[in-house]
Amino acid sequence: MLAMRLPCISLAIVAAIACTTTSPRSTASAGSGDAAVDPQIAQEIARIKAVDNHAHPVRPTAAGEKPDDEFDALPVDNLEPQSDPVRQRPGSAEVVNAGRELFGADKAAAVRAHQSDYATWVLDRLGIDVMLANRVAMGPGLPASRFAWVPFADALMYPLDNQPLIHHPDHKAFFPLDEKLLRRYYAESGVAGKPATLGEYLDKVVRATLERHKAAGAVAEKYEMAYLRSLDIGNPPRTAADAVYATGAGDYKALQDYIFRFIASECGRLGLAVHIHVAHGGGGYFNVAGANPLLLEPLLDDPSLRKVNFVLIHGGWPFTAEITPLLTKPNAYVDFSEQTAFTSARSVSEVLRKWLEYVPEKVMFATDAYPESKELGWEEAGLIAAKTGREALGLALTGMLRDNDITRDRALELARMVLRDNARRLYKLK
Ligand SMILES: [Zn+2]
Repeated sequence: MLAMRLPCISLAIVAAIACTTTSPRSTASAGSGDAAVDPQIAQEIARIKAVDNHAHPVRPTAAGEKPDDEFDALPVDNLEPQSDPVRQRPGSAEVVNAGRELFGADKAAAVRAHQSDYATWVLDRLGIDVMLANRVAMGPGLPASRFAWVPFADALMYPLDNQPLIHHPDHKAFFPLDEKLLRRYYAESGVAGKPATLGEYLDKVVRATLERHKAAGAVAEKYEMAYLRSLDIGNPPRTAADAVYATGAGDYKALQDYIFRFIASECGRLGLAVHIHVAHGGGGYFNVAGANPLLLEPLLDDPSLRKVNFVLIHGGWPFTAEITPLLTKPNAYVDFSEQTAFTSARSVSEVLRKWLEYVPEKVMFATDAYPESKELGWEEAGLIAAKTGREALGLALTGMLRDNDITRDRALELARMVLRDNARRLYKLK
């Protein structure tokens, strides 16, 4: 079925219209009796220059320069093999078509032709105005006018010996990377090594790092903690955290939880959102049960954190139904990235419809564009996710319109909210 998709013409925006109105998948009969995306809704969705809530763009580098490796703090491209979802395999129709649509037969020629403007050229092809770039650092080729920085906070949670936390080969790959990032944060903070007390650490390393990130243009801090531990974040007393920090013994999780809450609180003070990976993740050892969004409910319900905006990145998949009631918390937001990489537009549309029927002001488009493999770069991944996400949104809104749940005007308004306006309001983008 996917191989039968009509070839999409080169401009991503126009392609989105073509694909949402003519692909076999769009015209297949759906459970609720609706068919293709309503043409006016498809047209509006294709027209909107999106804000991408979460992605990992690769910084273009000049010939002879070290290739960019700062697109993720915990890259998943060097883990033990797992059984990849069908859509992400190198020979899948999605991957092959995305490469063809973006580059024809010659990706290297596009890289050469656009040089330092390459990343913004890719954004234009994806129909994306501003991409939130979840990266260790920014740099030339990722201009602030198009890429808003989201740095990583996890490393700050692990100031002790992390050897006892390593339970499988993926942990073995990840913890040294976060330890390396923490050393970088020490150096950037002008601190020679681990301070003697937790108070000093929080002030001179953690707060200093967050303030530096904010000053450099960050709009949020990102947690990949679901790759390292459960999202069950307790609320230990300061005395317990002090003791663990000072002695290196006792309940390390309590110290991590205390630091997490300190960071969240500081993010609220600085006007940074808190991004948390809430979903299944890469690597065959990923603990799916530990990424259940309901584990975050005590955090979202903490009165002292009510003004901190938490964004549940990837929408909790496979626990998407659990996300729905969490959207009533005033400090909870969601995006639907990753789902658009792993699953079909129809599947994503069913998730989206439930959220849009509930609290649509909190739902945001995102691609999670990521350099997965040689064949599936951040560009191809971004195109697949952008097209799937637009099609899914169109299908959800068309279903709601045809069931008389919403008016046509409201459908068009919801499209603008999800693709752009909700994120612009949350991050105060111009
Ligand atoms: Zn990501």
